[in-house]
Amino acid sequence: MKRTAVRRRVARVLTKRAVSLSPTPNLRSEIVAVGQRMSTSGLSPGKSGNLSVRVDGGMLITPTGIAYSEMKGADIVEVRSDGRVAAGQRVASSEWRIHLAIYKARPDVGAIVHTHSLNATALACLHRGIPAFHYMVAEFGGDRVVCAPYATYGSEDLARFSVKALGPRTACLLANHGAIALGDTVRQAYDRAAAVEALAAQYARARSLGRPRILSAREMARVVEKFKTYGKQAPVEE
Ligand code: 13P
Ligand code: ZN
Repeated sequence: MKRTAVRRRVARVLTKRAVSLSPTPNLRSEIVAVGQRMSTSGLSPGKSGNLSVRVDGGMLITPTGIAYSEMKGADIVEVRSDGRVAAGQRVASSEWRIHLAIYKARPDVGAIVHTHSLNATALACLHRGIPAFHYMVAEFGGDRVVCAPYATYGSEDLARFSVKALGPRTACLLANHGAIALGDTVRQAYDRAAAVEALAAQYARARSLGRPRILSAREMARVVEKFKTYGKQAPVEE
């Protein structure tokens, strides 16, 4: 092969790699790292759950059916905001519709984590959300975590029900299925998914002991307000 032909071929290969791996190698490895943490921490047993990050014009999302322990940055799929996926990528998570619908409805959201965590899922199987049994429920921006009605996984209906159950909040449950948590970053969304699971476990335990006392809407509104500045630290002088 002539030198110019070789050069052209190399350029073509490089362009192809750049298309499938750009624009965000760091985001891809962060998604993989958080997915692996989700799996090892037990928040999502087996290959359940999925996660995504918003990018310009769409999102990066985990592939369907690939174990988190096997997942690499190159397996993460870029889905455009109209649902199109460029050729040469893995098949996107079966829940890509939920993720896109949330990004469309909630411009404030930068990342989404979906889990089948034990206690959140157990409550969701009773079609029960998490009421204001504990002040920390306000962490999700309201006085409850709502459970969306059941719909088949991967369906348009489930996407619609999820957006409605979230409302302006950062978490919801999915009946007979699991939970969703939102954040500015994938790490924040993961931390919220862990917080939903912790509260679901506390609520389940409280219910097993009796009837938890529910905080008033007025008190929860006060706590939601307080959370807007909670934990903010001033920089220390060196
Ligand atoms: P995916 O592997 O297709 O993301 O499915 C997992 C899941 O939790 C479906 O709701
Ligand atoms: Zn699921």
